[in-house]
Amino acid sequence: MPKIDSGLGAVLRGLLPLVLCAAGLAGEPTGLMHTARFAVVIPGPPTGQPAEAAMDGGRCADPAGTWLGMRWRSELKWRVNEKTVPAYLGDRTAVVNSLRSAAYTVDTGRNDCGLPADLGISESYAGKTDHIAGVTPTGGCGERDGTNAVSFGPLNQGLLAVTCIWWYGGKDNGRSVETDILIDDTEGLFFLSTPPACTNRWDLEGTITHEFGHAFGLGHVAYAQHSALTMTDGLPDCSTAYRGLGLGDYLALKQQYGTN
Ligand SMILES: [Zn+2]
Repeated sequence: MPKIDSGLGAVLRGLLPLVLCAAGLAGEPTGLMHTARFAVVIPGPPTGQPAEAAMDGGRCADPAGTWLGMRWRSELKWRVNEKTVPAYLGDRTAVVNSLRSAAYTVDTGRNDCGLPADLGISESYAGKTDHIAGVTPTGGCGERDGTNAVSFGPLNQGLLAVTCIWWYGGKDNGRSVETDILIDDTEGLFFLSTPPACTNRWDLEGTITHEFGHAFGLGHVAYAQHSALTMTDGLPDCSTAYRGLGLGDYLALKQQYGTN
C-alpha cells in the first residue's frame, strides 16, 4: 500500500506527553504547555494501488473522521519561509499559492461533495518569514518560537512532511497556540501539477491539505477502510484527488468548529 503517514501508531506515540514549561511565554496562562507531532507522512513504494483511490466513490459516502483533541480559539496566522523552497519546484509564488490553497480548503471546508464551504475556521497567510518550522530532521518537535511557520528542509526516513502542534490544557479540549509544518525538500518528491509518466511523486497541495487538517485538529483514518478521505494515513503517489475534503474530513471539522 502506498503509505502517506506512519499511521495511527505514530499518532499515538506522538501523543505521549512531551511537556514544555510555559515559563517565559508572556501573556499565556499559567499551566503546562504540550507539544506533539501528528503528521508524519511516509511515502512507500507504490504497490499497484490505483492512484485514483480518492475517486472511487467513497469520498463523499464515507463519514469517518477522528479528532486529535486540541483546537484553535483564535485565527491561525501562518507564514512561509520562501528561502527554503527547493529550486526544483520552480516559481516560489506558485508554491506559496499551493500552500495557501491547501490551508484555505481546510479553513472553509472546501470539499468535493457539494457541501457548503462555509466552515470559516479562520486562518490567514501572513507572508514571508525567516523562521523555520520547529520540527527536527527525524520528525520530532523542536522549540516553539511564536511563529506558525511552514518551511522545507531535510526529513529523515522518507518522511514527506511533519506537523507539530503546541497547545495548552489537556489534549481533549486543549487550546492550540502554535503549529509548524516541515516539508521534505528532497529533489523531485513533490509536484505542483502532475508530471507526465509520474511515479513516486506526491501532490504538494493534497499533501499539505492533509497537514493543515492536522494543524487544525484532524487525526487519521485508516487507509485500509478510508482510502478515499484526505485524512487517510496512506496517500497514493501521483494523485491530485486529495486537494479538497471528503465527507468524513468535513464532518469532523464541522463538529469541532461549527459554521459561522
Ligand atoms: Zn497525517
